[in-house]
Amino acid sequence: SGGVVAAVARALEQADSVRTLEVRANADTPEDAARARRFGAQGVGLCRTEHMFLGERRRLVESMILAREDSRRDEALAALLPLQRQDFVGILEAMDGLPVTIRLLDPPLHEFLPDRTELAVRIAAAEARGGQPDAHDVELLDAVNRMHEENPMLGLRGVRLGLVVPGLVAMQVRAIAEAVVERLSASGSPEAEIMVPLVGAVEELRLARAEVERVLAEVATETGVEVHCPIGTMIELPRAALTAGQIAEQAEFFSFGTNDLTQTTWGFSRDDVEAAFFSAYLDKGVFATSPFETIDRDGVGRLVRIAVDEGRAARPGLKIGVCGEHGGDPESVHFFHAAGLDYVSCSPFRVPVARLEAGRAALPATSGSDSR
Ligand code: PEP
Ligand code: MG
Repeated sequence: SGGVVAAVARALEQADSVRTLEVRANADTPEDAARARRFGAQGVGLCRTEHMFLGERRRLVESMILAREDSRRDEALAALLPLQRQDFVGILEAMDGLPVTIRLLDPPLHEFLPDRTELAVRIAAAEARGGQPDAHDVELLDAVNRMHEENPMLGLRGVRLGLVVPGLVAMQVRAIAEAVVERLSASGSPEAEIMVPLVGAVEELRLARAEVERVLAEVATETGVEVHCPIGTMIELPRAALTAGQIAEQAEFFSFGTNDLTQTTWGFSRDDVEAAFFSAYLDKGVFATSPFETIDRDGVGRLVRIAVDEGRAARPGLKIGVCGEHGGDPESVHFFHAAGLDYVSCSPFRVPVARLEAGRAALPATSGSDSR
């Protein structure tokens, strides 16, 4: 097996010497980032910040989103700030010298808010015992009912949440900027990039960007350290792809979120299709492989090409990557190479495969699947 390991290492080395696609990894923790680096990732293309708001921090998140009074929300944000700063210090340290694309919070709300049935049962049980229900439970249920959504994946997510909850974007950006300053003062080379999710209209990005720039400037004034973070956006809604020319004027980079782009282009729920009808569709030959695994060249892929063309026409040299699951799928990697992307970002374990395929895609003789 030593021979196999050596052969793989040789193949990877060859692929790296010819490929033009950069390969980054999706990682949310310093451990994942370090693993990605060992597999040869050239950066973190997507650091999702959602998981950083779960667990013990959940109560703070509930206050941040649900509090009616500004003071309680601000307290929760103030408590989250140092925790977020440490999250970012950790991942920037693990990837020192390489780019880390940090995405602003993008939760489907139902994954964060308490379950209203559970709350209602708890309140009813307290009342049935003849007692007073917990005041916090009552308040929470009221707030959760107010914010209930039938389709959370199409609801208050991504940039929408950032624009609706005062102080949320500022808290995350401040945590990023302060983490950069901390790493610089430790002689590190932090390369944070800030990415705005689920943009559908350039005005959303313009508003978010203004807030990001305001906070970066504020931290620079306070610390005396200039913090440079490219600000970019996900392209993961058909409308974003179709208005990429406008959006590029507000974005220093694009990253295709092909998971959401597939969901919204087909109108397929990412979370439900598998059980509901995908095996029947595969049997009947509606498609040969799941469009969530391999890029659908005719639909989603066409939107990708439109966005690349219009984005680069508006901003020559615009840096463009992909961070959906497709970034680590061999056939899709060939497509992204042919579409002119700068990088793919995939899960750490798929980085070697992406490197190999990016190498094969760059060799004209072996890139037979690029003809479309
Ligand atoms: C995507 O939509 O492709 C993406 C990378 O974001 P997420 O999977 O977190 O929605
Ligand atoms: Mg997405």
